[in-house]
Amino acid sequence: MPTFEDAQSALEQFFSFNTFREGQADVIRAVLAGRDVVVVMPTGGGKSLCYQLPALLFPGVTLVISPLIALMKDQVDALNARRIPATVINSSISFEQQLARLRALADGEFRLVYVAPERFRNERFVEALRGVNVSLFAVDEAHCVSQWGHDFRPDYLRLQAAAEAIGQQGQRPQMIALTATATPRVREDIAAQLGLRDPASFIAGFDRPNLALRVVPCKTDNERIARAAQIIERSDGTGIIYTATRKAVEDVTQQLQSLKLRVAGYHAGLGEATRTSVQDRFMAGELHAIVATNAFGMGVDKRDLRFVTHYNLPGSLEAYYQEVGRAGRDGLPSVCTLLFNYIDTRTHEFFLEGSYPTPDLVRDVYACLLGYERDELDLTARELSPRLGVRNELALNASLVLLEKAGHIERGTGSHSALRILERVARNALRVDWHELVKRRQAEERKLREMVNYAYHTGCLRRFILEYFGDSKEVSNCHCSHCQPQMRWKRIEEAVEELNARQQSASNDPLPPDDGPRALTDEEHLTVRKILSCVARLDGKFGKNIVAGVLRGSRASKILSNQLDQLSTYGLLRAYAQDELTRFLNALIVAGCVRQSGLAYPVVSLTELGRQVMHDRARVALDLASVAADLSDDVGEEPVVVVSEKTTPRIAGATLELTFELYQQGLGIAEIAARRELKPGTIAGHLADLIADGRPINLADLLATDDQVLIENAIAENEQTGQAGLRAIKERLPERIGFDDIRLVLAARRKPAS
Ligand code: ADP
Repeated sequence: MPTFEDAQSALEQFFSFNTFREGQADVIRAVLAGRDVVVVMPTGGGKSLCYQLPALLFPGVTLVISPLIALMKDQVDALNARRIPATVINSSISFEQQLARLRALADGEFRLVYVAPERFRNERFVEALRGVNVSLFAVDEAHCVSQWGHDFRPDYLRLQAAAEAIGQQGQRPQMIALTATATPRVREDIAAQLGLRDPASFIAGFDRPNLALRVVPCKTDNERIARAAQIIERSDGTGIIYTATRKAVEDVTQQLQSLKLRVAGYHAGLGEATRTSVQDRFMAGELHAIVATNAFGMGVDKRDLRFVTHYNLPGSLEAYYQEVGRAGRDGLPSVCTLLFNYIDTRTHEFFLEGSYPTPDLVRDVYACLLGYERDELDLTARELSPRLGVRNELALNASLVLLEKAGHIERGTGSHSALRILERVARNALRVDWHELVKRRQAEERKLREMVNYAYHTGCLRRFILEYFGDSKEVSNCHCSHCQPQMRWKRIEEAVEELNARQQSASNDPLPPDDGPRALTDEEHLTVRKILSCVARLDGKFGKNIVAGVLRGSRASKILSNQLDQLSTYGLLRAYAQDELTRFLNALIVAGCVRQSGLAYPVVSLTELGRQVMHDRARVALDLASVAADLSDDVGEEPVVVVSEKTTPRIAGATLELTFELYQQGLGIAEIAARRELKPGTIAGHLADLIADGRPINLADLLATDDQVLIENAIAENEQTGQAGLRAIKERLPERIGFDDIRLVLAARRKPAS
């Protein structure tokens, strides 16, 4: 068996590296010890070495499964340049060549062979591999096996069987799975779907101490431009400015050029020649910055990027961190700035809506098609749009795709847009996998929510990212905007002024003065004490939004179902809006009066200082001007991106849909709660909301008829005596009837007349 010392000398001999990068040595030790391994490292972290080095030391060949043909070739070229015999087998070479390579493989001519996952569709290919001594089966981009990942590839699901099939003497080769996507769910999925046996798991290399992570809240596009310009002007080198859309690339490029900055735009819609020329100028260091969509960056190996600025909010921390990871690859200080405006979440919601339409929309689209007598229809999503009153054509298209996948319709290809109805079934008999649809949408929503949480995070940003990726490394000497706030941009007013002058635009908001903490008025101090007493009452069990909701007397389902409306602090600050209260809370966190803990569902509790202030034994100064309000609302039980009850719940819809689907499958409250791992009260809350929304929910499915009658009577009596509130109703009822039951009946009474 090869030893770790062997690995160390191979590192120098073949790769000319002196030391291992963070995590590599541990991984290689486990691989040499014969274990199955999962490796999570960021892009550029040095994953390849984790299997390339053992490949040199094992007796048999190492198969590397990789989905990207271009990258495979690069890897093989790099290995060959180091005089390591390696080759590729994928669709870019002829069948004869594939056979020849397989023969050479069996003869032991290669140490590594890169294989495209779709090769394993071919039985004969797998058969041919049986004659080869395979020591290690390495699955690169292993998140592709997970339907939770962003890049699911069905071919990856064959890999477990393929690995089992090629083992010699009934022993499947040892496996190593590598990815840069680290959510625990994806990791578990990788191990399960690839059939890894007691895998050793390694997460390393996410920490990039030379990157100064910064979030800069921006109220207007002018502010964003001014900040972006400032970052370029202050920097000694070049960088990337990422925007969400092609149009934004063009606008931002043009505005920065008008400030005499040497920038160029890059997106997939530009001609090949333009893209190449922009990329060449960028690589040569002729540009101050490139303004690009995320189409730019893959395979760009410029190690001295001094900044990566996000003009728009990315859809996930995975995407964000991958993009900022391109800065400072040379290890020198670099600045990664997120120019944050909450408005950007709308773009993402639009895309989410477009990728994962609601079950109702899919049914509506189907019903609309059935409205035609003919089965052959010459219809496009654009034409359906006015008929259904739905503007999001992406969502309509996605609905058609789902209907086609379920076999209800067939869509024409290419320019021929004809649709054919294959069968006419009842609206609620569609075979679309609703559960999967809702689940996927929720997964995406959760990622967006975490991205927004990052933008609003009031603690260390580097720590936040490491926790998100599951990297437990301690951080010190951090340069993020929380740990080094003194690095705040000072000249923003000048930059905006300059911008205004140049653009001669009248519609600019000047920036608010950034004046830091100030002493509170007596009235504010009293407000703060009320807020703190509510935090104390809720005793570390809830997040900021619930605290705010309780204070302003919200009737959100989570508040009622937890009976928080019974607290003495309920409704104590009715005059305040949700976001005013969360602004106070955020300022109190910054000032050290309130502690926030937990990542996915952060809860708040009182610190000793907070207790002093609550008892009026101390006063604090707060920075209410520059701290942001919290625009999320966890007044639901799951992450939702909703501002307050006053706005229509947008993302919250998905969780309701899931409950509704399960109800339609005939499950009761307790069963739905068990299935979804939520409290029965929460599910009752969902059902009450669904009833109020006019959904076909039969109270008799949820409540005994006798109880329903008792509740109706109690409500009627209350109305006669002029009493209000759930508690008064409950008092008239037998003990076994709970608040949830009452709320369901109340919802049914409020239900819109149909
Ligand atoms: P990943 O697959 O994780 O994105 P790579 O394996 O391509 O990353 O490695 C990124 C770069 O780091 C490559 O240029 C590689 O040669 C280099 N590298 C990897 N390990 C080491 C090491 N121990 N010392 C120096 N450079 C390394």
